[in-house]
Amino acid sequence: MKFELDLKNEPISSEALIADMQRVAKALGGASLRYREYKSQGKFSPNTVMRRFGGWNKALELAGLTKVHQYRISDEELFKNLEDIWIRLGRQPRRKEMSKSNSRYSGSAYDYRFKTWNAALRAFARYINVPENSTSGQVIPQESDGTRSPRGVSDRLRFRIMKRDHFKCQKCGRSPATDPTVILHVDHMKPWSKGGKTSEDNLETLCSKCNFGKGNTE
Ligand SMILES: [Zn+2]
Repeated sequence: MKFELDLKNEPISSEALIADMQRVAKALGGASLRYREYKSQGKFSPNTVMRRFGGWNKALELAGLTKVHQYRISDEELFKNLEDIWIRLGRQPRRKEMSKSNSRYSGSAYDYRFKTWNAALRAFARYINVPENSTSGQVIPQESDGTRSPRGVSDRLRFRIMKRDHFKCQKCGRSPATDPTVILHVDHMKPWSKGGKTSEDNLETLCSKCNFGKGNTE
């Protein structure tokens, strides 16, 4: 075998690995550091780090950083984030749109939790479709005792109304899908202040212009 120098593969000292992990963690402003964060911003490969110290969490420990698994994003946070982006885009987001500039959590956070993007979307649909007036799936009769529906529209209901209205203003037809400056609202058709219910048949999607131009802001 021919003798060759391969200086770029010179062994990296453990101190240099640790120092670089600390540098990236500091730059990201976190007390912890995720594998994928280091992968995108670190000087070395995270696999080198893991091999050297016998695992990512062991390396974090040596670097004086918090272990990653101690911080877990709840499913609900992931769904709310997905919902925000869906509404902002006016359509179903693609996995690659779950990028840093757009999204609080990356596509890989969804993969990590749900295995695939499609599985994440299916879980999201189940979350959105839980009926308003239910706890653990049981429907409670509404307004049977004369009490009113709440004025506020929950995140889930808001999303369902927008989805029903195809993320389009029901007055002018504009949608964030074709015009990113459009901001959609869900509004009572018969104002809540005049006895209108917070129910699917009394709610509609309007853009901010049409909503505030309506005069009857609630
Ligand atoms: Zn409009």
